Amino acid sequence: MADSLICPRCHGLLSDGKYTLDCHSCKLVFPVYAGVPDFRNSNKNFRTSQQELKTIDLLMSAYESSSFRELIEIRYNASNGIPNSLFEHQKAFELSYEQKGTYRLFQIEKLMEARGMNFSGGDFFLDIGCGSGTAVPWIMKNFKGGVGIDYSIVDLIVGQKFLYENGIMNLKLVCADARSLPLPDGVIDFVNATDVIEHILPGQEQFVSEVKRVLKSGSGFYFNSPNRYNIFTREPHVKVRFVGFIPRSFMNSYVKMMKGVNYSSIRLLSLSELKLIIHGTFGNDFILSGPFIDLKAPALDLKRKVVKRFPFLLDIINKLFLFFVTNYQVIAFKTPK
Ligand SMILES: [Zn+2]
Repeated sequence: MADSLICPRCHGLLSDGKYTLDCHSCKLVFPVYAGVPDFRNSNKNFRTSQQELKTIDLLMSAYESSSFRELIEIRYNASNGIPNSLFEHQKAFELSYEQKGTYRLFQIEKLMEARGMNFSGGDFFLDIGCGSGTAVPWIMKNFKGGVGIDYSIVDLIVGQKFLYENGIMNLKLVCADARSLPLPDGVIDFVNATDVIEHILPGQEQFVSEVKRVLKSGSGFYFNSPNRYNIFTREPHVKVRFVGFIPRSFMNSYVKMMKGVNYSSIRLLSLSELKLIIHGTFGNDFILSGPFIDLKAPALDLKRKVVKRFPFLLDIINKLFLFFVTNYQVIAFKTPK
């Protein structure tokens, strides 16, 4: 699979440089860190920050002699300005890979079941927005190989060490823009994109059609999308209630006022906006559902405990209030011609 990476700008062939991948056709040169190619400079607007370069340097000089867990420490200590409590939270989240992967697999299987299909695996799995990629081996259990793509090279360098330590040879990590994937047409058997679409701005439509391009005919694309008009919980990124009900042009100033953080790089879709985007690329060949929970998994908060005790409540909410639920899950299929 790694051999089939192509230039995301011109789709030309690549050859190995010393610490780079080089495009024969458009002459772009892509850096490679610890075996992870970074294709982000194929986008003319891409600029790396001083902060990121510093963190890459720190990680690369420690890479050979450090373990996965040590690299996580280095990665988080290098990012300034985040309170310690949040660090600990992020690290704990980072280390819960098995749980994250198993949960995602459950959700995909459940949606496939609803369509009368099995999530039976195949040759190549693609995970977009994989972070460090540590959860991906649990999702792609039934696939021969996979590619994990993320926009954070720093996370991917740390993840590469995880793969090495755990002897995982069939997952290739790649840093790239989800709107221009470094993969040929029609090579992927299944795509997962967890918590991705709301971060792609602009170009949510372009992202969905790019996924369709790389899918094999008949293959599926799973993704989730937090609902703009969610009335049940706070906005998941900034923890502010009812942000979605404010006109888009005022959202950023509102969130800044409430929480002092920037909201200009997040765009939550409503049910109708989401359907329009999927329909524009995949036509009617998709299934969409509101949230559901794994009744076998431990319930961590009160809401989950209630739903676990009375599972029919969630069905009722999903039927009556689909326009206002917390999030949507979708599997879209590339219809065979
Ligand atoms: Zn090129």
